[in-house]
Amino acid sequence: MKIDHIRNFSIIAHIDHGKSTLADRLLEYTGALSDREKQDQFLDKMDLERERGITIKAQTVRLVYRADDGRDYVLNLIDTPGHVDFTYEVSRSLTACEGALLVVDASQGVEAQTLANVYLAIDTNLEVFPVLNKIDLPAAEPERVKHEIEEIIGIDAHDAVLASAKEGIGTREILEEIVSKIPPPAGDPGKPLQALLFDSWYDQYQGVIVLVRIIDGTVKKGEKILLMSNKKSYEVLKVGVFSPAMCEVPSLTAGEVGFLIAGIKDVQDAKVGDTVTHLHNPCAAPLPGYKEVKPMVFSGLYPIDTAQYEQLRDALAKLKLNDSSFSYEPETSLALGFGFRCGFLGLLHMEIIQERLEREFNLDLITTAPTVVYRVHKVGGEMFTIESANQMPEPQHIDFIEEPFILASIHVPNEYVGGILALCEEKRGVQREIKYLTPTRVMVIYELPLNEVVLDFYDRLKSITKGYASLDYEQLDYRRSELVRMNIMINGEVVDALSLIIHRDKAYYRGRDLVSKMKELIPRQMFEIAIQAAIGNKVIARETVKAMRKDVLAKCYGGDITRKRKLLEKQKEGKKRMKNIGNVELPQEAFLAILKVE
Ligand code: GDP
Ligand code: MG
Repeated sequence: MKIDHIRNFSIIAHIDHGKSTLADRLLEYTGALSDREKQDQFLDKMDLERERGITIKAQTVRLVYRADDGRDYVLNLIDTPGHVDFTYEVSRSLTACEGALLVVDASQGVEAQTLANVYLAIDTNLEVFPVLNKIDLPAAEPERVKHEIEEIIGIDAHDAVLASAKEGIGTREILEEIVSKIPPPAGDPGKPLQALLFDSWYDQYQGVIVLVRIIDGTVKKGEKILLMSNKKSYEVLKVGVFSPAMCEVPSLTAGEVGFLIAGIKDVQDAKVGDTVTHLHNPCAAPLPGYKEVKPMVFSGLYPIDTAQYEQLRDALAKLKLNDSSFSYEPETSLALGFGFRCGFLGLLHMEIIQERLEREFNLDLITTAPTVVYRVHKVGGEMFTIESANQMPEPQHIDFIEEPFILASIHVPNEYVGGILALCEEKRGVQREIKYLTPTRVMVIYELPLNEVVLDFYDRLKSITKGYASLDYEQLDYRRSELVRMNIMINGEVVDALSLIIHRDKAYYRGRDLVSKMKELIPRQMFEIAIQAAIGNKVIARETVKAMRKDVLAKCYGGDITRKRKLLEKQKEGKKRMKNIGNVELPQEAFLAILKVE
């Protein structure tokens, strides 16, 4: 295939606007799915992967399309991850393309998440053209949405394709646009190999599979390749494409997109954004833009049933196989027992992992309040990072602390703007801009401390706006801030699972809140229990659980024996799920309730 007959593109769409349905249509139309056998194969493979709990990543497919000009074109549809925590991965996938389809639901309009990716595509110099989907819906307003696209995004939408992926309307026009509007890749097959690694995952049978876009040169089976970021070299065992089933090809050459299998054992070694070249005739320099991604949000995960510890460890190891941006290490908590401290790219990433652990691996977990990475500057100048309150040094050793800030773009209908502003102010936000995108849709832009956002911002946002807000964010910088470690103590013992790093101004309110919640949840015992919130030695809130006067059996004195036995058994039941803090017994539910509420 000559390079000018290749088109590399991706589809940008807000969730539910129809990206997957449209992709299926394109596959179907170009015959990639027409063959009944092939279709069965493809679907079978996906089901299998689903069963194994592996993310289906290979939505990157090669299509062959005979255009109106009578020539055959190779169209590579490159998949991008679908949510805000994966901006870096999205940017690498887009770099592998020359163009992008912007799919917008004609009954909804442009959403904040779509915006971030469209701007990314425009910044990557891609040819972006709009497709209005779901025009079959009675609520579709193509003219209004076209106008919105022009106003908000600033790209020409007057001749946007009107499509219904559901009914197969507009499919051929979209394919023609891809051929006519998106430029062919530039690249030189004669130069040394330079390929962008834009996705990788672990396959149980084949090891790590990497997706590459060949910029220059050619790669074949049997050759020795080098990953430039870590200088590791491998022998290429297979090269191929997804069409949509995996099929081997003799080589991949400049402009093409496909997969490599090279005996890479660990997905950590095949990092998104890395440059693949030949070991012996390497290219002069790696491709720009490579970044080592680091977890931004941390939380402790503990099995509710301690017997599930091994199971949790195995599940984490399995998830990690496929997700190099997720990290975990063992952690023990006085209150919660054995568990793991896990790192995530962001809040949504965290939610996805937690949900998969519970759903796919049948684990019941306690999750401690999420934290972020703080920079602690010690007296004397030394700086280090911490991601949990328990790593915080004594106050006298701390010069100052910095915390990460994000730039949040919140897209809401205008009636909710007041509520959003109040929320952002409460969360120590700094207002940047309020933009009226249309008379009824507003973009609120705030600089916010990530530490406040990870607590309950997203839930609050959803409830204030009845689910109509969408949030997008990017990392900004680190800022010096009055942060303190707040401990919750029970009869003088610190409950480590409840310690948190918090802004000094917020500590009093949060401390009072936590202490009074704890009071509700701790049953009376034979002695008085003091529940305190403290910063260092300074107690900032206190509640007391009064001692119990009689023991349980006193009530049934002289009563019948079965009732007595039942009561004792019930008490034993309850004991099993008790945790001891010093000499105080705490029901597991107390932790659950407190940690869940946040
Ligand atoms: P994605 O999240 O962008 O991948 O969206 P999907 O392709 O999964 O589609 C989301 C929902 O919209 C599904 O229920 C689809 O059946 C539906 N859908 C997709 N395209 C159309 C369309 O053109 N018309 C209508 N009425 N529904 C559509
Ligand atoms: Mg989808």
